[in-house]
Amino acid sequence: PSAMRELQVHVPTVKWNDIGGGQEVRLKLEQAVEWPLKHGESLKRLGIKAPKGVLLYGPPGCSKTLVAKALATETNLNFISIKGSDIFSKWVGESEKALRDLFRSARKVAPAIIFLDEIDALGANRGSSTSNTVHERVLSQLLTEMDGVNPLDGVVIVAATNRPDCIDKALMRPGRLDRLIYVPLPDYETRWQILKIQFEKIPTKDVSIEEIAKKTDGYSGAEVVAVCTEAALAALQEEMNAEYVQMSHFESALASVTARTPQSLLNLY
Ligand code: ATP
Repeated sequence: PSAMRELQVHVPTVKWNDIGGGQEVRLKLEQAVEWPLKHGESLKRLGIKAPKGVLLYGPPGCSKTLVAKALATETNLNFISIKGSDIFSKWVGESEKALRDLFRSARKVAPAIIFLDEIDALGANRGSSTSNTVHERVLSQLLTEMDGVNPLDGVVIVAATNRPDCIDKALMRPGRLDRLIYVPLPDYETRWQILKIQFEKIPTKDVSIEEIAKKTDGYSGAEVVAVCTEAALAALQEEMNAEYVQMSHFESALASVTARTPQSLLNLY
């Protein structure tokens, strides 16, 4: 299949309401992405230079992808995404063409967000199976494409990574990914909201959201969601006709799903 056919252009369906917390991230994204696309002239009038690209960084499973999608949904922007690792694995020998196609399709469907997930995979020294020359060529193609992006033409790049230390410095130069937005582990309030959203789908009885939110300190958003799934499975394990998930099930889920973000990773941010 041609590289083109792998690209999916769509407006996602994730809403801000589907996401717990994240108000600060939302505001920063709106300023950096939505305003330049929708109010480019106003920014120019006040002497603000619109960023071409934004880098979302932070621990895995903490809503980087969700917020990028919600921004696209709520501002009615097309969304084209690609994973750093896929650029090499899917299109052996065709990576540069794939990148050219990606940016070309984005311009065609503008206003659009190009979401580059795992952008650290494009860093030069990952020591992966891909040879250094391939890495260099792909990286330099990406830089060329980025330099051709103009937010006033309706295309903005949103990149994401867990490993900001592995990103090639050339990607961070002014005029490229020049706005950094940290997406942290969820705090108590955010975990409470994630649980609240989950409980709209999971019938519970005598379950204390506050207690689970308290006991999931250090968990990623994805891990909080996993606790809910594990609790529901525990309820079914006990009784296939179960109609509710109870606190005892959450307690066993909390014992099996633990916080896995290493401190060494958090120290990087
Ligand atoms: P990765 O770095 O692993 O790609 P990510 O930061 O992009 O992770 P997402 O893919 O956005 O994380 O989130 C993973 C899953 O975790 C989501 O599909 C959702 O179920 C859950 N999740 C994480 N954070 C939140 C949140 N704040 N609100 C609701 N759900 C969340």
